[in-house]
Amino acid sequence: MSKPEVPFPQSPVVPTMLEAEHVIQFSCHKGISCWNACCANIDISLTPYDIVRLKKHLGMTSTQFLQDYTVPYEFEKDGIAGVKLRPIENGTACRFMQPEGCGVYTDRPTACRYYPVALLSMRMQDEFVDRNSYALVKEDHCKGHEVKRSISIDDYRKEQGLTEYDELARGWRQLVLKKKSCGPAIGAPSLKSRQLFFMACYDIDTFRVFVESDAFAQLFALPAEDKTRILADDAELLQFSFRFLKQVLFGEQTIPLDEAQSAERMKKVQEKRMAEERAAAERFARGEDGGYDDADGDDCGSGSCGKD
Ligand code: SF4
Ligand code: SF4
Repeated sequence: MSKPEVPFPQSPVVPTMLEAEHVIQFSCHKGISCWNACCANIDISLTPYDIVRLKKHLGMTSTQFLQDYTVPYEFEKDGIAGVKLRPIENGTACRFMQPEGCGVYTDRPTACRYYPVALLSMRMQDEFVDRNSYALVKEDHCKGHEVKRSISIDDYRKEQGLTEYDELARGWRQLVLKKKSCGPAIGAPSLKSRQLFFMACYDIDTFRVFVESDAFAQLFALPAEDKTRILADDAELLQFSFRFLKQVLFGEQTIPLDEAQSAERMKKVQEKRMAEERAAAERFARGEDGGYDDADGDDCGSGSCGKD
């Protein structure tokens, strides 16, 4: 029987999965006895779009935001980089928490908008599309569950502005799901592909510099008007970054390549592969080892990832 892959959130407890039509009883409002209790002890993973919104709100670059406000982590066992909000120095509270409420409310992260609902983005092993399911988080300190207001999860998502947030982070969730399904059988991602994933997903301003660079122009034949449009807007650039990663990590080609450069690169990769195979065969013949050494550390050694 096929098993669902559920990358968000990470929890040892298997939650009851709820559909979007499920009606919850919940309301959070100023004056409630537990006001700010949920922001006093945080564990908040950020999506790439959360970072775009927060760095703009704070008037800084994504690079500065990552340095000052986040800590990196790895999704369990997958070697995929994630980013969490860094709490206050020597404490657990959110740095944006203020007596009157959230200091970045209009640009608060996805996880804060969803609470007390959790999004479970998943893909069944025999399916090609991802789909969403939800779970309800009930913590003793949260009195919002005692307020008599009924609302469907779908309407709650709309109320919290999550339609836009989920749509603009969808490409990232698909990448993580894809990487998971390519994961254990293939091995840990190489350092190079992890760095690329981190930069393109979370450090959008460094990714912009890369897209503007000569190195990018030599590899990709992106039409000038597309490039101008993409570079002018963070949300557009983010969607492009997901396309870019799907191409370089999984070989899903949607960005046109510079043909001459691409042929040259392919020739070099083939020459390198042949040299490695020759060396492995010679070692094998000398009885030095029993098999092929994947010195490149490729994620998807069959070549299907198209990373090279
Ligand atoms: S970002 Fe705002 S809502 Fe989220 S934990 Fe911090 S203070 Fe609370
Ligand atoms: S009701 Fe829940 S979400 Fe609202 S302030 Fe209280 S603990 Fe936080």
